[in-house]
Amino acid sequence: MFDNLSDKLDKALHVLKGHGSITEVNVAETLKEVRRALLDADVNFKTAKEFTNTVKEKALGQDVLTTLQPGQLMVKLVKDELTQLMGGETAGINLSGAPTVILMSGLQGSGKTTFSGKLANFLKTKKTKKPLLVACDVYRPAAINQLHVVGDQIGVEVYSEPENKNPVQIAQNAIEHAKTNGFNVVIVDTAGRLAIDEAMMTEIANVHQAIHPQETLFVVDAMTGQDAVNTAKAFNERLNFDGVVLTKLDGDTRGGAAISIKSVVNKPIKFIGTGEKMDAIDVFHPERMADRILGMGDVVSLVERAQEQFDEEEARKLQKKIAKNQFGFDDFLNQIQQVKKMGSMKDLVGMIPGAGKALKDVDIDDDAFKGIEAIIHSMTPTERSQPSVINGSRKKRIAKGSGTSVQQVNQLLKQFDQMSKMMKMMQGGGGRKMMQAMNK
Ligand code: GDP
Repeated sequence: MFDNLSDKLDKALHVLKGHGSITEVNVAETLKEVRRALLDADVNFKTAKEFTNTVKEKALGQDVLTTLQPGQLMVKLVKDELTQLMGGETAGINLSGAPTVILMSGLQGSGKTTFSGKLANFLKTKKTKKPLLVACDVYRPAAINQLHVVGDQIGVEVYSEPENKNPVQIAQNAIEHAKTNGFNVVIVDTAGRLAIDEAMMTEIANVHQAIHPQETLFVVDAMTGQDAVNTAKAFNERLNFDGVVLTKLDGDTRGGAAISIKSVVNKPIKFIGTGEKMDAIDVFHPERMADRILGMGDVVSLVERAQEQFDEEEARKLQKKIAKNQFGFDDFLNQIQQVKKMGSMKDLVGMIPGAGKALKDVDIDDDAFKGIEAIIHSMTPTERSQPSVINGSRKKRIAKGSGTSVQQVNQLLKQFDQMSKMMKMMQGGGGRKMMQAMNK
């Protein structure tokens, strides 16, 4: 995420980060580089200029030149300003109303339908809501189908009226349907066009007026940079929306949209989309994003994701198995599945402070576990639960079955052995206490 920008900001701040002498001249030069980095990332010109001016004023006000660690103070000022620029505080979502009505707006292809599904899934699992998805695209039958596919995937009902060509009516009927059938959130997915046009704007404005949504969200593709900001402006003028959803942040985005959008439309970014799957949704936290942009990682989000996957019951079972020396390859496979559920490897590594930058050019394969999984899948149930039975001929068979080499099989067995020993050790003394604390 935002690799280029992170890199350039790091270079710009590098001089000041060291212990070299700091002068008014190199502070000015550094900020010039910072501004260039922002412009290259497709940040709006005015925003970038204001950004560096504010940092400069604050730096001089705090007398950066005479502080003990001027470089670090500069980094902090830049971070604070980036956080402010992206909205400062985390903006919540308004879930009042019975039912809560959420209207999705945005251009075709921005990721509206995908995000509607992600949001329904998010509300269902995290906030124990009962959402209803509504297909209001009356032009493209494929769009209605797409929403049904998404709904099936996450187990959420989809309301549609394929014969009805009046989106206002469909939305109103859906809200009635929700009221009589116990749904407490209604997410209305609307039709988008490839570009802004008057008919689309009028149509969505009419729907907006008729259903009085608690939340109107504007969905935009982060890859479109400045265009994203301009589209946001146009939609905001008509809808006065409540928040922005930035999608496709998993791609090679330059970051301009994330940084400029709040200051241009004065509406907070509420959610981000980081992949095509239904769980690739994150609440947007400005400060954490600023940390990531400055290569400081995002440990808080990383821990949160780990906690989401953490299942107390499973952990207890696992603990028992370890204590009884019964931890086998099936359990190992389970652990791998859990890590994979936390997100793409590249994304996870980016959250570790310093690691994102250090490993930026390393191609982190999401299939990093593929070989290991293949090897385990080629084992018999007995071999999985009692790895000690795996002798030379079994190793050959496993290697052949998994398309790997005996060497790779050996390597995995060795790693597994070491891991088992370590886990066993952790069971005694401090380790047990640690695990108990984690289970609380
Ligand atoms: P809509 O026309 O606005 O409803 O857009 P769709 O929901 O159909 O999304 C358009 C394309 O973008 C689809 O291929 C989605 O899978 C993809 N997409 C949506 N959100 C994301 C995201 O956060 N990351 C990535 N990589 N792709 C996304």
